Amino acid sequence: MTIEVARLHQVAMPLRSPFRTSYGVEHQRDLVLVEVETDAATGWGECVALGTPHYNAEYADGAYEVLRRFLIPLLLTAPDVMAADVGRLLAPVKGQAMAKAAIEMAVLDAHLRTNGRSLADALGVTATHVDSGVAIGITGDVVALVDAVADAVAAGYRRVKLKIEPGWDVAAVRAVREQFPHLALQVDGNGAYTMSDVGTFAALDAFDLLLVEQPFADDDLLAHAALARQITTPVCLDETITSLASATAAIEIGACAVVNLKPGRVGGLAEAVRIHDLCRARSVGLWCGGMFETGLGRAVNVVLAGLPGFTLPGDLSGSDRYYTADLTDPFVIDDGRLLVPTGPGIGRVPRPEVLSERSIRSAEWGRTHGT
Ligand code: MG
Repeated sequence: MTIEVARLHQVAMPLRSPFRTSYGVEHQRDLVLVEVETDAATGWGECVALGTPHYNAEYADGAYEVLRRFLIPLLLTAPDVMAADVGRLLAPVKGQAMAKAAIEMAVLDAHLRTNGRSLADALGVTATHVDSGVAIGITGDVVALVDAVADAVAAGYRRVKLKIEPGWDVAAVRAVREQFPHLALQVDGNGAYTMSDVGTFAALDAFDLLLVEQPFADDDLLAHAALARQITTPVCLDETITSLASATAAIEIGACAVVNLKPGRVGGLAEAVRIHDLCRARSVGLWCGGMFETGLGRAVNVVLAGLPGFTLPGDLSGSDRYYTADLTDPFVIDDGRLLVPTGPGIGRVPRPEVLSERSIRSAEWGRTHGT
């Protein structure tokens, strides 16, 4: 498949509810899209890097720059490219998993559309629906937290995840558990704790949580393994899992019993499927995480989560949780589940009027020269 034209788009999507990060409060979701054109089809990819580097090192402005200067030009050097080639083609550029994943996604989307195939068909996904879970940020107020959980339960979500941090953990979880004794509940520390906080996690064992996610720094496998030996709640890793190799190492040393898989964080769908296969073979729990995706990235996540190794509901919410107007036709929660897209390609395309309204900047390349 020959890429004739490649475009980058940076968009700013207003969030329905601001979210708090270590950088402050974010009111919009900055993200970068990759669009590729062949003579037969157009494909779209979403780079899930956030607006600031508070989740991992990548962030939207940086991703735009690395795509513009390095990755798109590399892509256009290939006379013939398929999604399976993208990882190797872009390997001369170190890191940049989320930017690379966006290119892989766009190439895959264009290829599938050329052949009239859906991503679900290509991955062998037979599930028609996937269970939806939701993540609730740090509210700083227990009453507000319990209200937010009540709203999520009323909306039908089948699992609730609470973000925690030192000073906002045991009491918050206790308050939610007292109000919702049977709710499928889990917590996410986003690496904010150290081994000196083991007592906090031992206390959380009392609340029948599905898992504790990423309590410690992403490169501290040994601390996670040590914690897993000291508590009964399963330890799940998110930020640590950046590749098949890191997932294999984490499982091998007992640092996690559950994996949160995000295709962007591991460099794309092909690596995500390899990690899925590993987890399935090793009977490691698996679920699909979320990065405030628009309908493009969400479509890929929903299809991926239809694979049989996904054992727990993902952070796969309806579009309306984040956006008044999604970039694509929206995903809508029905009885706590989302419909797996079965249309051509990834199953969603940007709505031109939303893309145009939300665009911050764009760039375009033909095969022979950049602009
Ligand atoms: Mg997480």
